[in-house]
Formats: sequence, C-alpha cells, structure tokens
Amino acid sequence: MIENPFIYPREIRKMILKHVKVTPKIKFNGKGFICALINSRCHIGCSHCMFASNMDEKKNDKNTMTPKRIDKLMKLVKDSNTGYLLISGGGEGFLEPSLMYQIVEKTSADLTWMVTSAFWGKDKSKAIKILNNLYKAYLDGSRYNEKRRICIRISFDSYHIDKLSKSNSNPLDYIINIIRIFESTYSHQNDFFLQLHSIEGEDKLVEQLQEKLLGIKIKTISSIHKNEKSTESAISLRLPSGYIFDITFAKLLLSDTTVDLNNKNLLEKRIKLWERDAFINERNAPSYQINSDGSIGTDMLVIYDGRVTGAWQSEMPDVSINIDNDSYEEIMKKTLSDVGVLSTIENGLNYRFDIINEVSSKASIRAKAVNIRDFTSPILFEEDSIKAYYSIRVIQDFLDTKQINKKDIESYPIELKKLIKMNKEELQYLYHKSNYDIIKQFEETEKGFSVFLEEIRIFLTTKDSKQFISNLEKLESSLYIFDKWRILLKRISLQWYVITSLTIKELDILEEVEQLIDSKILKGRRIYDELLGKI
Ligand code: SF4
Repeated sequence: MIENPFIYPREIRKMILKHVKVTPKIKFNGKGFICALINSRCHIGCSHCMFASNMDEKKNDKNTMTPKRIDKLMKLVKDSNTGYLLISGGGEGFLEPSLMYQIVEKTSADLTWMVTSAFWGKDKSKAIKILNNLYKAYLDGSRYNEKRRICIRISFDSYHIDKLSKSNSNPLDYIINIIRIFESTYSHQNDFFLQLHSIEGEDKLVEQLQEKLLGIKIKTISSIHKNEKSTESAISLRLPSGYIFDITFAKLLLSDTTVDLNNKNLLEKRIKLWERDAFINERNAPSYQINSDGSIGTDMLVIYDGRVTGAWQSEMPDVSINIDNDSYEEIMKKTLSDVGVLSTIENGLNYRFDIINEVSSKASIRAKAVNIRDFTSPILFEEDSIKAYYSIRVIQDFLDTKQINKKDIESYPIELKKLIKMNKEELQYLYHKSNYDIIKQFEETEKGFSVFLEEIRIFLTTKDSKQFISNLEKLESSLYIFDKWRILLKRISLQWYVITSLTIKELDILEEVEQLIDSKILKGRRIYDELLGKI
C-alpha cells in the first residue's frame, strides 16, 4: 500500500468493514417506524415536489415495487416490530392501486398512512370504488389483527390544488368528493380514516375548505400529531353531520438536488429549515423512533427498488442493504456493525457534522441545503474520501468508549492501524494532500466516464458542439447515466466540491457542457434518481 491511503479511500472503507468489530450501546425495545416509497413515478408534476417525481422513465422493477417486494416489505414491518408505517410520496402510490390494497390488507403496523395527491378524487364514482377496495382490504387484514388503523392521507396545499383542480370556481371539489365519501360511508369507522396534510401558511385554503363544508374548527389536538408522528401543528374540522377529520401542517422544505451554494441568502434559509427539522422535530436523532412511553424503536426508509436504510438519515451509501436479499436481522446487523452508521445513531447528526467539517464543511452545507431528508446521507457521503475520513475518526472515539477493543487493533491491516493511531491534524493533512476529488472518483467507479471527460477536453479545443454530442451518443451510455453526469457537472459549477483534477479552463466549460447534454441528449428529461444511486 502507498504512503497516503486517502488516495484509495474505498480501500480504507473496505478494510474497516472487514476488520473492525464494534459493540453497539443502543437497544431497541419499542415500536419502530418505516417510511416506504413504493414507486418513484408521478404524473402530477407539482413545482414544489421534493423528489421532482415525473413520468420520464417507463415503469420497471427498479422504480416501482413488485407485489413480491411488497410482501417482503410487509415481512420487514412485522419482524421489526414496526408500529408506524408511512407509505409516502414522491411517487404517487395510487398509480399502483393494487399495491396499495395489498399493503392495506397485509400491514401489521398499528397505524399505516397511505399518502396520496388524491388525483383519483376528481371522478367521484372512481373515488367510491377505490375507497371501497381499500376498506375491503382493511377488513380482510383486520380479521387477523383487530388493532390496526389505516389513514388515507391527502396532500392538501395550493401546489397540489393548482395542478389538480378541474375548475377555478370549485378548486377543492376533488378533495371534497373524498371527504363526503368518508362522511357518508366511513364516519362510524375510527380505524379507517381520513387526514389532510398541509403546509404551514395555507390558512386561506383551510378557511376556504371550512366554508365549503360549513365546518367548524375544534380544539381537540390530534392524537396522531401528538403521539405517533409529530408535525408542526394540527387542527380538526367538524362538519354539521358531526363527522370530524384532522388537518396536519408541515414546513415546506425548499428542496433542490442541484442547489446553488453561491446564493448565500437562499442557502441560509434552506439550512435553517433543515436544521429546524433535524434538531427540533427529530431531536438530532432521526435514526431511531422515540415513542411516547420512552421506548426506542428502529426508524427505516425503504425505497421502490428494495433498498433499505436501516437507520434513517444515518446510512453509509457504500453498503448495500435490500429487502430482496436481506432479512430484518441482516439489515440490523449491517446497520449496527458499520462504525460509520452506529456512530451517527448513537451520537447524533451534529456529532457527524462536526467530524466531517474537519475536512469538508462544503459536504455538510450541501447535505443540509438540498433540503431532502432522505438525501442527507447520500449527499453528505457522496465522496469516498469523506466516508473514509469519518469512519477512521469514529473508530478513534469508539476506542475511547471501549466499544472497540484496543487489543483488536493488532489484528488490523498495517495501513489501517497507522491511520487509527494518527491524530486529527495528521489525518486532515493526508486527506487534503491526497488531492482525491470527485472527478477521480467518477473516473474510477463510473464506466465510460474517463472517455466522457476526454470528449469534454476535445470540445474545449474544437468548440464543435455538434461533433461533441455525436461523440457522446457513440458512448452508448443510458440516459440515466447522462443525467447523473449532467448533475455532477452542474454541481461542480455551483461550487459543491473542491476540484483539483481539472484546469480552470476545463472547469469553465462545464456549464456549457451540462446545458448541451440537457438540451441535446436528455431533451429536458429528468431520469437520474439520487436514492437509487448506481444501477
Ligand atoms: S403529487 Fe406528490 S409526488 Fe406527485 S409531483 Fe406532486 S408532490 Fe410530487
């Protein structure tokens, strides 16, 4: 091995994952939480959509769960003692109604939320049918488990309404259709119920709805808001018939996967929003569920291709965990045995940011500024050198807390031993001296990226955009890959990284290259998915 291991950061991580044994302190003794995204696609196209969900990609088994994968998800819910299951968007779950019915029937969680834009409420007879199917599935499943509750949660804000209302005079009709069906058919059912979920500042919309329904606001504080899933605030509306439903409110995050780090004012706003959510709502510990009785449960994210984050917002993206292959025990083993994950679970997000800031405050800034909580870890740990640095520093802390046995170090590979024995300043020096940047990482890990880079260098001298695009098309990379590389170039132009392996001229042309790929190859389509990463 060479003298500076940060030139090969992935090797450091591999050594750590293979050799370092750590003893967790955390004990899970209560109900857990799972947020699952069952598909990535959506035809609505809201301007505020966190995931910029679209229909640019055809349905496949990566962007949409299969019935078999839903069964695996249901098994995970059961095995992990999950009390709260959120079937969330983006992605509109009701594009796949049969999967939604399957979940409602089979979920063993005490409370399952089925999130939707309610696009299907426009046609009342269709809405009656869908709710009837959901209710039947709920009854079928409840034969084996009477205590379950199913909540149909509708996104209720001006962005959705702008897209979904059929007429300007009655923009809320599609939502009122659903409320009326619940009022007339399911109001006797406490455990199969409706909730609207809104954004802070939508008071006018709430007043409009209240007026239309002749409802009154009542003060009962929603038990769901209070106990199971705290939101910023909640109210209840009572209709003249006596039917009551809740409206909860969240903060609007200013999500952008290619956020401009030069825009200081907006950056500050974004960071404040993210920090408020992470440090106040999530109490610096989103990776586990703290229940109202003080018990601790797991907190996981599962996405459409089966990928699992065993500890929400705390994962290391270089470890693959997937419900297709991993049981609950294996998921937790992979989660808790990785020092990079365990350290964040046990010490919190701030602890992690403090260590990462020792070498890259940019990484912390962009992870917060992107304003998508599910993206925090993939963005923070995008660079392999940061994964390696963080892992070494937390091993040093685990030695202090005796969660790693000092004697074990003797059996580690010599390079790892040396790194662990270095002080912070020595590690920082090696990290920066390696000059290992995201460009080198892409060259080493992305098939075709070196040729792509070479084409950019040729374009820099010829300025022949037609020839450049024609050469790129010959690379036969998929649109997914081109979109991924486009995003990388855009992020570089927006000051996301310290780049050492490109010249100033090469850096200057990236913006033009990004726009050419966007207009000539992708033609505006947005296919790359940060949550999937490599496919
Ligand atoms: S309906 Fe939901 S998933 Fe679809 S675009 Fe709007 S916010 Fe995104």
